[in-house]
Amino acid sequence: MTNFSELGLQEDLLKAISDLGFESPSEVQAQAIPILLEKDTDLVALAQTGTGKTAAFGFPLIQKINLDQRHTQGLILSPTRELCLQITNEFQNYGKYSSGLRTVAVYGGASITDQEKQIKKGAQIIVATPGRMKDMLKRGMIDISQLAYCVLDEADEMLNMGFYEDITDILAHSPKEKSTWLFSATMPKEVSNIAKKFMNSPKEITVGQRNVSTKNVSHEYFLVSARDRYNALKRLVDVNPEVYACVFCRTKRDTQKVAERLIEDGYNAAALHGDLSQSQRDMVMKSFRNKQVQILVATDVAARGIDVDDITHVINYQLPDEVEIYTHRSGRTGRAGKTGKSLVILTKSELRKIKQIERIIGQNFTEESIPSGEEICE
Ligand code: ADP
Ligand code: MG
Repeated sequence: MTNFSELGLQEDLLKAISDLGFESPSEVQAQAIPILLEKDTDLVALAQTGTGKTAAFGFPLIQKINLDQRHTQGLILSPTRELCLQITNEFQNYGKYSSGLRTVAVYGGASITDQEKQIKKGAQIIVATPGRMKDMLKRGMIDISQLAYCVLDEADEMLNMGFYEDITDILAHSPKEKSTWLFSATMPKEVSNIAKKFMNSPKEITVGQRNVSTKNVSHEYFLVSARDRYNALKRLVDVNPEVYACVFCRTKRDTQKVAERLIEDGYNAAALHGDLSQSQRDMVMKSFRNKQVQILVATDVAARGIDVDDITHVINYQLPDEVEIYTHRSGRTGRAGKTGKSLVILTKSELRKIKQIERIIGQNFTEESIPSGEEICE
């Protein structure tokens, strides 16, 4: 199917889709939306980052809930505060013609009483991190006794981050008759355990291993000695003056240090990591999204799932410990049909990781050399 109107979506949603400029459904949307609209069913959908999963569950969810009633009918669990805010934002766009729709985000690091107030005003859809959700349930601040739909977004990431117990607790305390929709890039054991335990003969869809977005990304590595890492980064930025980049470091400390050095050296950079307060993180994300910040230096956790259009380069200042994470990083660029570059700065001892990554992404790297000073001045 190549047309949103063929998927069974209502007029209010089709209008919003047209405003969003989405011309045709992505593969996961084309597969998931008809299943989710048809009848109340459980679904496991496997699709990589950047394939349009938010809309794949967002449109059916908005269509399914009863907007005349204000009680909570849909819950979306998502791994990070940034993602919760992003999904809530997206829902504002999806539901702009669905009058009466209220979506509220609930996450740690912000006032729990403010969030409770928002929910008390009526929220048919809650978008939550598992930790805060469990906390609010325990304190009786949220009533999910009439929950009809539960979405587990980025299920593998939530479990990676240690949310297994919180998730199972929330699911165990929600009504049995609801539908559960699970979205994930990968299917490790913990994810299939959750599916087995809490889902009712779910339908399964898998979207092609290598989605459009990764094909749009070229991968390059640059061999340097450890002490040249930072200068290599500067050079890579200098040769690409129009760069709009996400730079990944392994630790919060390195993230902060690299961002500070870049700022000292006159670059338009900012740091994003878990040691910042929630309002600082929101501000950084906002400035990056507005393009007031050109280079976002981030940890993997802080940047998880972040969807910012037009990122031209992902720069791996250091490779992640687990090579699987590389896919999440490089998925930040080359989105929605655009092209992007994923660059890796590495030392000789890390070379073997490149081979492992090539196997995972099914694409080869090219080895490039760091441009010299003269090349930049030309
Ligand atoms: P995922 O959750 O799979 O990582 P997202 O839902 O964040 O992916 O979507 C990735 C990007 O693709 C977003 O910028 C979104 O606006 C865009 N997008 C989603 N669906 C479509 C579509 N059908 N046509 C064009 N762009 C789309
Ligand atoms: Mg997503």
